[in-house]
Amino acid sequence: MDKNRCDAIIVGGSFAGLSAAMQLARANRAVCVIDTGTPRNRFAAASHGFFGQDGMAPAEMLATARAKVAAYPSVRFVDGAAVTAAAEETGFAVTLADGRRLHSRRLVLAFGLADTLPDIPGVQDRWGKTVIHCPYCHGFEFLGQPLGVLSVMPLSTHQAQLIPEWGPTTFFLNGGAMPDSETLASLAQRRVTIEPAPVTALEGEAPRLDGVRLADGRLVPVSALYVAPRTSFQSDIAHRLGCAIEDGPFGPILTTDATKRTSVPGVFAAGDITRAMHNATLASADGVMAGASVHQSLVFPTATAA
Ligand SMILES: Cc1cc2nc3c(=O)[nH]c(=O)nc-3n(C[C@H](O)[C@H](O)[C@H](O)COP(=O)(O)OP(=O)(O)OC[C@H]3O[C@@H](n4cnc5c(N)ncnc54)[C@H](O)[C@@H]3O)c2cc1C
Repeated sequence: MDKNRCDAIIVGGSFAGLSAAMQLARANRAVCVIDTGTPRNRFAAASHGFFGQDGMAPAEMLATARAKVAAYPSVRFVDGAAVTAAAEETGFAVTLADGRRLHSRRLVLAFGLADTLPDIPGVQDRWGKTVIHCPYCHGFEFLGQPLGVLSVMPLSTHQAQLIPEWGPTTFFLNGGAMPDSETLASLAQRRVTIEPAPVTALEGEAPRLDGVRLADGRLVPVSALYVAPRTSFQSDIAHRLGCAIEDGPFGPILTTDATKRTSVPGVFAAGDITRAMHNATLASADGVMAGASVHQSLVFPTATAA
């Protein structure tokens, strides 16, 4: 068999991509997983909430998952970046950054998201440790401690109302507009302290966070700051293929149906790029669905591309 031709190419070998690969491997289909090794949660020391693996290091979880997938004979891993994908007569051709070209009948996009954080000194070097996107992932670790929410978008008010579940909360408006009276009443009911002043820096010996420094010189003590990042696709392959893409609350979302088909026949997608709620378990579940769907589309080709 031509090693550069397979049933499915999966772009991205993390929670979503490896879960898709596993389903196809177990159906003994030839799968190629292309991966650059930059999963979104690589900044966190531990991943929380994943079934049976709560608290494990992300790299360890992914290495274990990759080894399990690699144990199947029909799977091939290619370390490198996929840069283009184009439809061809029998499926798709994917070109890597180093010029290698691979061909497949189906394509699964699972290349994940990149995060853009507010440009405030001390935010970037605490990302995933004491500057956090999600309390379900990293909230219990700060239970009962003073917490902050940085206002970066309208949805930040929702986060500010949620975070008091874990600890007394200050909502940093960072010089932005005061919420409307209804929202202020809800925040007051949740005992959230509003801090209108601009934020100048985060302080403490990173990744530890001692507090948020304000433009008027005050330091407000917090142990963790919740920030919703703006997200973007790690690859522009979906755009190049012409897949339908929607605007989500944090950034673009690749449109998929319940079986993880995109708008382009033969192209499937899974994980954070296909959803507004970003979570490793959900990404993995998407991958399972995408892998099974790809397989069924190969068995019953009339339902999709040839
Ligand atoms: C700081 C932080 C901490 C988090 N903590 C948790 C947690 O505790 N629990 C939890 O459930 N969720 C957590 N999450 C969310 C979780 O990381 C994501 O939901 C999950 O990683 C999404 O999986 P994915 O497979 O869709 O994408 P990713 O994990 O981002 O993987 C995408 C993969 O595609 C590869 N790739 C990208 N572009 C290309 C290309 N062109 N060619 C080849 N490969 C490519 C990347 O190298 C990467 O391996 C956290 C997120 C962040 C930002």
